[in-house]
Formats: sequence, structure tokens, C-alpha cells
Amino acid sequence: MPEPELPQKSKRIAVIPGDGIGVEVTREAVRILRAATSKSATQLHFTDFDWGADRYLRDGTSLPGGAVEMFRRDFDAILFGAVGDPRVPGNQHAADILLGLRSKLDLYVNLRPVELLDDALTPLRDRAAKDVRFTVVRENTEGLYVGTGGHFQRGTPHEVAIQEDVNTRRGVERIQRYAFEFARARNLRRVCMSDKSNALTFGHELWLRIFKEIRGDYPDIESRHLYVDALAMELVRDPSQFDVIVTCNLFGDILSDLGSQLAGGLGLAPSGNIHPGQVSLFEPVHGSAPNIAGKNIANPAGSVLSSALMLDHLGLHAPANLLREAVRASVKEKKTTRDIGGNLGTKEAGDWLVEYIAARA
Ligand code: ATP
Repeated sequence: MPEPELPQKSKRIAVIPGDGIGVEVTREAVRILRAATSKSATQLHFTDFDWGADRYLRDGTSLPGGAVEMFRRDFDAILFGAVGDPRVPGNQHAADILLGLRSKLDLYVNLRPVELLDDALTPLRDRAAKDVRFTVVRENTEGLYVGTGGHFQRGTPHEVAIQEDVNTRRGVERIQRYAFEFARARNLRRVCMSDKSNALTFGHELWLRIFKEIRGDYPDIESRHLYVDALAMELVRDPSQFDVIVTCNLFGDILSDLGSQLAGGLGLAPSGNIHPGQVSLFEPVHGSAPNIAGKNIANPAGSVLSSALMLDHLGLHAPANLLREAVRASVKEKKTTRDIGGNLGTKEAGDWLVEYIAARA
């Protein structure tokens, strides 16, 4: 538990490294956050939580009772690594922890910026960094991921499986408004709302109707609607058309993975699970990657860029920009892990970023 007598200008960060490479990349991200804020007026105060597969297998704890209330009361943000371990059947602990926090803290925005940091990292021919810079705003609490539905005659030749797609007016409107506000606050000109309302004529008709209702409130923003299949095509053909893309839970999941590849792969991709103005959770897009865990080869950049999103959420824009600048410099100078063309280990890539930042903080 954090001590109550912190100086006024401090932010309390809960750190949940989790499993596999989540532990390795989070360790580096915390070192880098310390370096970036060491001389700033606002200090970060970190508290570690050992939730993950080891703890679950030892004593059955996944997300302890009272955790959600504790985060709301005692913390400003959560820095998360990754959860998932082949020793846990069905990864029950991962569902409890991550999906539990997303839904119980009502983290309705999944923010996934896609930014090509170096021309050489995109698989697209004749595309440069200026062409690949957009943010996917994914609805994070509804849609097909709410887990309602059921089986009928399971395991028989007649079995039926139903998975329900939940879309509420409140949920759809708040995520679409968030996308417009996000664009406006950053002087971005274009918001694209994507659905499949031509086929999903109930749930996604609501998405399109709400979009038509609210777009007039943002006359300064160019608003556009694309069916998700057309958007997938356009993202590969010409990603420079997009600044902000807002979409449902399932499509956001898929499109942001597509986006991560346009910008150099999973090792670099950051995300925020956000409720504006409330305690929010920041994590790299990648999972625990058991195949490369414990080998000091995981790229810490996704976690570092997620930490930058966390600093933005806390209003600490100067150190957030310093983190991004450091990662950009490391990519340009090839002081990175092997997945994006360098030859450093996780820790050594972290050392380079710490040194870069310490010289400029
Ligand atoms: P999940 O099911 O949660 O997506 P996963 O472990 O199946 O998790 P990821 O962790 O997302 O999958 O990673 C897929 C692959 O991408 C890994 O096996 C690894 O090869 C590569 N990868 C992911 N993250 C990184 C990283 N930070 N650095 C280097 N390679 C990575």
C-alpha cells in the first residue's frame, strides 16, 4: 500500500508486471520513467503488485477483492506488463485481472496510437513516417467481448453457439465523442468512424445513427464513415488518409494489430485503457510471449511508449515527449532489440534509453 504522506506533487503508479516478457519490459519502463521524471516538479511513486501466473498457481489469487476500490482511492494510474502463461488452463488469471480491471474501472477507451518511427520499419512500399501516423480509438467495454451468449446442445451434431453483440447508446456515444474530443485537443483534422452497419443492421445501425447525430457538434473536424472492410483495404493502400479512427471492440482489436505491423511490429506498439479523468491502465499491445520470455530479447519500446501515454494522461507532457523522443532516437540509431533491426538485449536497450533521457531530463 502506498504511504499517505507523499508530497503534494506526486503521482501514484501501481505497477503490475504480470507474466513472461511483461515482467522484463515493465522493469525497463519503470527505470526509464524514473530517469525522465527525476528532476521534474511532479515525482512518481511506484507500488508493485505481484499478480500473475506464479501468484495464481501459488495461492489462487488473480484480482483480489477490494483491488478496484483501492486503485480508485489510492492511485493515479496503472502500468501493466502482460498476463498469460501456458501453465494456467484457459489463462483464467489473465481474464480475471485484465478484463476485470477494464470492466470494473470502466476503462471504456482503448487508445492505440500507430506511428511509424523510421521509414525502414514499414512493410509498405514507398511509404514514409509522415504517411503512417494515426490513432485507433477502440470501444473497450461492450460489443462482442462482453461474454454474453450460450451454447445449446453443445458437443452434439446439432450444437448452436450464440455470442451476443452488446451496443448501448451511452457506450457508443461516449466513445465517438471521445474520438472527436481527442482529435480536437491535438489539432487533428480527421475522424473516421468505422462499422459494418450494412450487415449488422441493429447494433451497428446504432453506431451510424449516433455518428450522424453528433458529428455536427464538431464542425472543425472532417468526419467520415467507412465500412470496416473498406477501411482495412484503405489502411493498407494509403494510411496517410487517417488521423483518428473510432470503432467497436472487435474491429478495434483487429485494426490496431494491422496498424502495429504498418509501424514496425508488436514490439513497438503502445496502448492505454482509459476512463478520462479517472485512474487508467497503460500496457504494451503485445502479450506475455512465453516463447521469448526470460531470454532478454523482448523489445521494451512498447512498454516505454505506453508509459508516455500514461504520463500524458497524468498531464506530464514534457517527460512523455522525452520518452517518445528517446525511442525515436534509438530506432534511428539502431540501438534497439533484434525484432526491429538492432542487436541489443532488453536490458541493454533500456540502458541506452535511460542514458539518452538522463542527459536531457
Ligand atoms: P496474446 O495471446 O496475449 O496476444 P501471445 O503471447 O500469444 O499473447 P504476443 O505476446 O502478443 O502473443 O506475441 C506474439 C509474438 O510476437 C511473440 O511470440 C514474439 O515472437 C513477438 N513479440 C511480441 N512482443 C514482442 C516484444 N516486445 N519484443 C519482441 N518480440 C515480440
